[in-house]
Amino acid sequence: MSLFKIAFSVCAICMATCLPLLNPSPCEAEVDLKRDALGEKGMVAAATPQASEIGVEILKKGGNAVDAAVAVGFALGVLEPNASGLGGGGFMMIHLAKTNKTVFLDFREKAPQKAKADMYELGGNDLPLNNANKLGALSVAVPGEVAGLLTALGQYGVMSRQEVMAPAIKRAKQGVKVTPVMAGLMTKYYDTLLSCPSTASIYLDEELPKMPGDTIKNPDLAKTLELISQKGRDAFYKGPLAQKIVEFMKKQGGIISLEDLADYRVRQRQPVKGTYRGYEILSAAPPSSGGTHVIELLNIMENSDLKKMGPDNPLTWHLWAEAMKLVYADRARYSGDADFAKVPLNGLLSKAYAGELFKRIDRKKTAEKPEPGDPWKYESASTTHYSVMDSQGNMVAVTKTLNFFFGSGLTVPGTGILLNDEMADFDFKPGQANSIAPGKRPLSSMSPTLILKDGKSVACLGSPGGKRIITTVALIISNLLDHGMDLQAAINAPRICQYHQGPLKFEKRLPKDVQEKLRQMGHELEEKGAYDLYFGGAQGVSFDRKAAGLHGAADPRRDGRALGF
Ligand code: GLU
Repeated sequence: MSLFKIAFSVCAICMATCLPLLNPSPCEAEVDLKRDALGEKGMVAAATPQASEIGVEILKKGGNAVDAAVAVGFALGVLEPNASGLGGGGFMMIHLAKTNKTVFLDFREKAPQKAKADMYELGGNDLPLNNANKLGALSVAVPGEVAGLLTALGQYGVMSRQEVMAPAIKRAKQGVKVTPVMAGLMTKYYDTLLSCPSTASIYLDEELPKMPGDTIKNPDLAKTLELISQKGRDAFYKGPLAQKIVEFMKKQGGIISLEDLADYRVRQRQPVKGTYRGYEILSAAPPSSGGTHVIELLNIMENSDLKKMGPDNPLTWHLWAEAMKLVYADRARYSGDADFAKVPLNGLLSKAYAGELFKRIDRKKTAEKPEPGDPWKYESASTTHYSVMDSQGNMVAVTKTLNFFFGSGLTVPGTGILLNDEMADFDFKPGQANSIAPGKRPLSSMSPTLILKDGKSVACLGSPGGKRIITTVALIISNLLDHGMDLQAAINAPRICQYHQGPLKFEKRLPKDVQEKLRQMGHELEEKGAYDLYFGGAQGVSFDRKAAGLHGAADPRRDGRALGF
C-alpha cells in the first residue's frame, strides 16, 4: 500500500467519524457538465457510463427498452453497488408505444411477517437505539429487485434472461473501478462498511477505504448472478440463496424468514396521472409518495406564469419554495402504503386542491412553516435512476435502491449480496399512515416519471435524492416545459428544496440577487455545494418529434452519462 494511501486513509477515517459534514459531491471546478448524447435508434441514460453502454449493447442486439432496462438494472448492482442491487428494490415505469399502455411495476421491499409497529426500542431522542432501523439485520426488508426485473423481462421483454444478465455477470467477474464519487461515499460510509466482515472484505482494502482507481472485486456476486441467470427468480426466493439469506439473518438477530422470501410478489399498479401545461405526467403511485407529490407540486406551480417570470426571477424561486413547503406538509401527514393506510390520493392529485393551496401563498413573504411534525427523521440520498427509450418510442424509467448508501451494511456471506436498510423508510412510531406492519411496503419518494403529449412519448426521467427526489423531478419538468431548456440544461440547472420545516436548502450557484431577495422575503437559507449530490443524480431521455431524435442526459452531480446510437 502506498504512503499516500495510508495518509489518505488515516484522514478519511478521522473524517468519517466527524461526518455528516463531509459531502462527496464533485468540486465545482472539476464538474463535467456535458453528460448528454444524441441518437435516433435508442438511448440509455444511467448512473455510470458502463451501465449506459450495456443498455445500448442490448438495444443494438435487437432488445427493446425493457430488455435494456433489465440488463442495466442487473449491471448497476455491480457497477454502482453503493446505490442498488439484488438485495434492494425499486419501481419501474414502462410505456409501450404501440398500445399506448403504461404500467407501474412496484418491486419495493416489504416488511417481514414478524415485523411490528413498535419493533424498535426508542432512545431518549425518540429515535431507534443504535440506529437499528438503519444498520444491521433489523433494518433489512424483504428484497424485491430480482422479482421486479425478471417480471418486467418476462412480461414486456423479448430477450432471454441469459442474454440480458450476461453483461452484469461479465462486469462482476472483471471487477469495478472505484470513481472519485464512489471513493468519497466509501469514506463517508466507512463505519457501515467496516461493521460486517463480509462487506469489509469486498469494499475495503485491508480495512481501509479504497481510493479512486482501485478495483472492487466481488466474485461471489458473479456466481450469484450466474445462478439467477440459469434458474430464474426461484433461485433467489426459494433456493440456496434464500437459505443463505435467512441463515445469515438469524445469526445477525434478524427476522426475515423463508416464507417472507417465497411470498414476495411484484405489484403491477396504475401509475398516478396528472397534467402540466397540457402535457400528461405519469409517475409512481403509493407506496411511493413521489409521483403523487411531484404532480401536486406541479399543479400548484401551474397557477403562476413561470415562463413569463423566467428562471432567474426571485419570485419564481419564492413560489417554488412556498409550494414545496405545502407539499411536504401533506406528505408528512398523509402518505403511506395505500394497501394498508388510507391515502387521499384523488385530493392530493386534484387541480382544485392545488388551486386552493396556491391561494395560501403570499407572493411577498414566506409563510410560517405549516404545522405537522416530520415523522421521518432520516433522509437518505442513495439510490439510482436510469431511463431508456427505443426507436419505437417505448420508454422505461427505473428508480431502485438499497436505501442509504451501502444499505444495511450487511453482505450475505458467500453470495456478494448487499442487503437494503429499507425498514428505515417506515415511521417507527405506531399508529401512523407509514407505521410498520407485516408485509407492508415502506413509504418511498422515488418518482420514475414519464411525460407524454397526446399519448406520444416526450420524455422519461427520475432521480435519487431521498425526499428531495420530489422537488428535483418537478424542477426538471418545469425547466423543460416552462423555460424551454433542453434536458441536459434542465438537469444541470441549480436546485432548491424547502421541506415543511427547516431552512430552504439551495445550491450555491443560485444567482446572488435571488438569494438576497429570498432573504428579504423572510426565507432562512442554507447554502449547499454548487453541484450537490444530495440534490440527486437525475437521468432522462427526451424525444424531439421535429428532429425525430432522442436526447439523453445525465446528472453532473454524480457519475452518470447518456449514450445513444
Ligand atoms: N429509500 C428512499 C426512498 O425510497 C430511496 C430514495 C433515495 O434515497 O434516493 O425514497
